[in-house]
Amino acid sequence: MKNDFRVTVYGAAGTVTGSKYLLTAGAHDYLIDCGVFQGKKDLRLRNWAKPKFKPDRIKSIILTHAHIDHTGYLPVLYKLGFKGPIYCTEATSDLLELLLIDAAHLQEEEANFANKWKTSKHEPAKPLYTEADARHVLKQIKTIPFYEFSEVGPGLKVKPTFAGHILGSACLTFDYKGSGVSFSGDVGRYNQPILNDPQPLEIGNCLFCESTYGDRDHGQVDSLSELEVVINRAYQRRGPILIPAFAVGRTQLLLYYIAQLEKENRIPTLPVFVDSPMAIDTTALYKKHREEFDTEALALVKDGGVILTTGKTYFCKTRDQSKQLNGLQGPRIIISASGMVNGGRILHHMRNWLPHKQTTVVFVGYQAVETRGQLIQSGVESVKIFAEEVPIHAQVETVSSLSAHADRRELIKWLKDASTAPTTCKIIHGEPEAADAFSALVTEELNWNCSVAQDEEVVEIA
Ligand SMILES: [Zn+2]
Repeated sequence: MKNDFRVTVYGAAGTVTGSKYLLTAGAHDYLIDCGVFQGKKDLRLRNWAKPKFKPDRIKSIILTHAHIDHTGYLPVLYKLGFKGPIYCTEATSDLLELLLIDAAHLQEEEANFANKWKTSKHEPAKPLYTEADARHVLKQIKTIPFYEFSEVGPGLKVKPTFAGHILGSACLTFDYKGSGVSFSGDVGRYNQPILNDPQPLEIGNCLFCESTYGDRDHGQVDSLSELEVVINRAYQRRGPILIPAFAVGRTQLLLYYIAQLEKENRIPTLPVFVDSPMAIDTTALYKKHREEFDTEALALVKDGGVILTTGKTYFCKTRDQSKQLNGLQGPRIIISASGMVNGGRILHHMRNWLPHKQTTVVFVGYQAVETRGQLIQSGVESVKIFAEEVPIHAQVETVSSLSAHADRRELIKWLKDASTAPTTCKIIHGEPEAADAFSALVTEELNWNCSVAQDEEVVEIA
């Protein structure tokens, strides 16, 4: 007979996106995270397939954090009949209002593009969901506090602890009739500025642990020094410094580091333009949620200092403000989305400035295969932007140490700091090599009963 407390894996098994875990507790089903698949086409197609669980049977959904690969499927579930509450932390709720609407806009833009240029087999091409769907599902969100158990269904309680990954990010521990299961969500790095470190977890009988960097160490490179060298080198060229950056997390980290380098007189004070409405709104949310700040960031604001603002920061919210950047001269920093140069305002800056040798392009995040960012980074001579072949004479630099994910050493430290050992540990959210390597490492170093979770695997909780 099947246990009445179990987890079925419906995503982020053998890959890092599409996180969805169906938790069955007694007569009810719940969903932990509700992410879209991203990346290669066969993965993206899975977003269009009928889910292997019944959306209208789900009592409630509980989210670890706001990233789209953990939340971007929510509007689809709404369309398929899910009308229950969605529980998350307060900052995650704030971020979701930005991220889900943005995701819907991207879906709609893609469908419009396909219809205009007839690039889809489907006539007409439809978006996975619309802004209206996203707005409907946002109404179902309810916030829960960190470090306290909240009831999310009959007899089922959940306690979020801070994961240190992005604003609002949580690891979740569930309790059902005295039996427990925990989900790591995405775990952040130790000793990063602004936000607190990942906090120790009270692990239940079973743990689902991420393994994004389960086979790698980030190395000892200091992000601040790496950025200092790149900015000073770019300054000598006297041209624009273009930084394609992700709106959530990376932009705020950059602002913090640039301000610190200026304060320590390690770089000249240059004008910094944040040219992305979503990055601007997210920066405001980071400033609002001081309860997640680390001691240094708290001390800075207590002393009356401004956080996430450099000596000369300009936030370009409107299209006109963005266009005005085209006429500027001299060294200046432009931080603009998207982080992989696949869309957004960064495309205009790239088209204008890639052909000039005074320009510096600085990549600060992972560039997925087949993205424009990856092409530019790999040193191609030209790249297609707005149906135009743009020659590249700009200098291309990479700052590799700015990651929002713990590496394998940091993950092991985080597991060692946990209050108890689980009876079962299942590895999720990693490419196959990373997941296998991390499972072996956990078995070796912690002597836990650990294995890699498979898609659709059912894990009974003791
Ligand atoms: Zn994440």
